[in-house]
Amino acid sequence: MAYSQAIVQRAMQRLQGENEQNEQSSRARIAAIYERQPRLGEIERELRRTAAHVLAATFRRQGDPVAAMQQLKKDNLALQQERDWILQTEGLEPDDLTVQPLCPNCSGTGYVGANMCECLRELCRQEQKKELAALFGTDSFEKFRLELYSDQYDAKCHSSPRELMRATYRRAQSYAQSFPAEGQSLLFSGATGLGKTYLSACIARVVADRGFSVSYAPVGQLFAAFEDDKFRPQPDVSRTEPFFTSDLLILDDLGTEMTTQFTISVLYQLLNTRLMEKKPVILSTNLAPNELAARYTPQIASRLLGTYCLFQFYGDDIRFKLK
Ligand SMILES: [Zn+2]
Repeated sequence: MAYSQAIVQRAMQRLQGENEQNEQSSRARIAAIYERQPRLGEIERELRRTAAHVLAATFRRQGDPVAAMQQLKKDNLALQQERDWILQTEGLEPDDLTVQPLCPNCSGTGYVGANMCECLRELCRQEQKKELAALFGTDSFEKFRLELYSDQYDAKCHSSPRELMRATYRRAQSYAQSFPAEGQSLLFSGATGLGKTYLSACIARVVADRGFSVSYAPVGQLFAAFEDDKFRPQPDVSRTEPFFTSDLLILDDLGTEMTTQFTISVLYQLLNTRLMEKKPVILSTNLAPNELAARYTPQIASRLLGTYCLFQFYGDDIRFKLK
């Protein structure tokens, strides 16, 4: 589950903030314990002093360090018992006198070895959801309004747009819940204003909620990002990396761009890479399947029409009905 660099950075900043807050509140809590029980501070200093004495003595006399440590343990036992007894009267454990990391698995670093710890992953998931909410607002399956689609029979779809949309809606819902669905990609084809972006957003929300990373771009933005990376590169910043690495890529408005050699080569490279890596794409286009084949290279058309699951959207522009 590869979250984009930007999301990981934001999550990491939050983790650091939480660690600092934990450190501060723990120190305040510990200081309050020492204030209530001043004897604890005395014992602490005494324990440190005897430990330093024994170590110094061991070095001076080149004595047996094991024997010296045993002596230290014996000397300190009474002090430690007294400390434990005071702590017990406060209902505390010895650990309560030290700052404990928020996450014991990664000690607050966010990583266990090379792997992202569950605590940082959860923050990434929340940041991903925030990013999608900023893009799509509250679009969700629950708010999807089938009644906006006509229930009149339409010969073009051999059904009514509403019946067709009901089936599409159900399949989209089960797709989101079973994501990554063996890498299956979807092609949403139909005129503007029929809910293609809305349905993509509904899927994105569920997929992100389930802990997967999602990247979204209208194709215009996508090609602009590729141009930036190629012609105006910035060190350590890749504007296109998330399009390759995210678990789900949503590409909107295919067919609205000015088609050039560059856009065709970018599109092929991206779709082919994701296909090879079994990373799903949801592609929306206002072009009909036969128009796709005419507009793009046979390689692109064959990938889209041969491997994507096609959903066709019919009806009248629902945006006017919403207003
Ligand atoms: Zn952790």
